[in-house]
Amino acid sequence: MILRDMLKQGADTLRKAGVSESGLDAWYLLSYCMGITKSHYYMIQDKVPDNNIIQRYSELILERSSRKPLQYITGTQEFMGLVFDVDENVLIPRQDTEVLVEHALAFCERKRVLDMCTGSGCIAVSISVLGSPESVDASDISEAALETAKYNSEKNNAAVSFIVSDIWDGITREYDIIVSNPPYITSDEMVELMPEVREYEPETALFGGVDGLSMYKRIADGAGEHLVSGGYIFFEIGCNQAAAVSDILERNGFIDIRTEKDLSGLDRVVWARKK
Ligand code: GLN
Repeated sequence: MILRDMLKQGADTLRKAGVSESGLDAWYLLSYCMGITKSHYYMIQDKVPDNNIIQRYSELILERSSRKPLQYITGTQEFMGLVFDVDENVLIPRQDTEVLVEHALAFCERKRVLDMCTGSGCIAVSISVLGSPESVDASDISEAALETAKYNSEKNNAAVSFIVSDIWDGITREYDIIVSNPPYITSDEMVELMPEVREYEPETALFGGVDGLSMYKRIADGAGEHLVSGGYIFFEIGCNQAAAVSDILERNGFIDIRTEKDLSGLDRVVWARKK
């Protein structure tokens, strides 16, 4: 079997397993398996691959057919132009979250920043590397997630301090800026998630309580004590949560509450200033 047919067979297997971007994923797995680029592939597509490549590629296709996300197989995801290691202890960074980082970056210069629920560390590390904050702290309830985040910080030459904390219980310092992409999926939405997300991504990184809002309430509630007067809070939100999250912020004494859209035109960020 020549390489081109092996790729086609891989794509067919993924499509039959219900993988939505089967052709693309079959290619990414081939590229990962052989360490080749598209141009290299075109030069060797009529050649017969080595047996160990055929074997390894079929194992990768099988793994993806079980609906394990591509990023947990290859172990990486790009975010803000940086490369992050990911594993099943952390949420895979989403492109939507880049909008949150971009808005926060505009305010971070010489500020003390806290990224709450850091997961892979993608937000904190991006702010540390791409902005010029005074300091960046990042917290998460999961020690396993923090291990991955620490690795990502070192790999990207970021300067981030990590704190194990269930929302505010381990936080002692005061900040100028709080950024957070907390878990915000509702009970009803949890059952509708794609198998890739529902069966493989950590539930603690997804589930935001029955109404999806419990983390926003807890974060906004404690922000009074840990955010300076005039400081900013930036939240990523589910696209139907702008009004509810704005209400929570208003009830906690925040002003100048604004909503921003993602690249698909959906509400994705709510930010506000503390009085
Ligand atoms: N902050 C991480 C991210 O944006 C993790 C978010 C989470 O676990 N809910 O990807």
